[in-house]
Amino acid sequence: MSGYFKELISGTKSLFIGLGITGKYFMEPVVTMQYPMEHVEMTPRFRGHIELIPDEETGEPKCIVCGMCQKGCPSKCISLEGEKREGVKGKVLTKYILNFTTCSLCGQCVESCKFGALRFSKDYNLASPRKEDFIFDLIKRLKEKS
Ligand code: SF4
Ligand code: SF4
Repeated sequence: MSGYFKELISGTKSLFIGLGITGKYFMEPVVTMQYPMEHVEMTPRFRGHIELIPDEETGEPKCIVCGMCQKGCPSKCISLEGEKREGVKGKVLTKYILNFTTCSLCGQCVESCKFGALRFSKDYNLASPRKEDFIFDLIKRLKEKS
């Protein structure tokens, strides 16, 4: 019988300890988010896939098609092309494909770009069962964002 009361007392005690902890956290600010209805702001140093940076005036990619990012990529996951256009100085970027399935996010391409035309995106919501969904047309993605 004394064992029964001991268990009853210890059970009641642990119940109140548990309720105390619940009550304490109930009063504190909420730290979880209602994903996917809410999206978290990624930290400044977060590395998403690379993306093209637009020219502030024209909205077109700042890329001058020098090819340094493509050459510097150890995973060979960048494929780009450009063309000369009438009345335009230098080349115009016509294709910039990133195969994100082999990208290691090493940052070599971003460092190679001396024209401030590449950066890491903050995109993290990329889940898909299809490999093809990770072959990114970065010009298209830039236009979709602007
Ligand atoms: S982050 Fe590295 S692996 Fe990914 S595209 Fe750039 S250079 Fe290639
Ligand atoms: S290094 Fe920069 S400017 Fe050169 S091709 Fe790559 S993104 Fe364009």
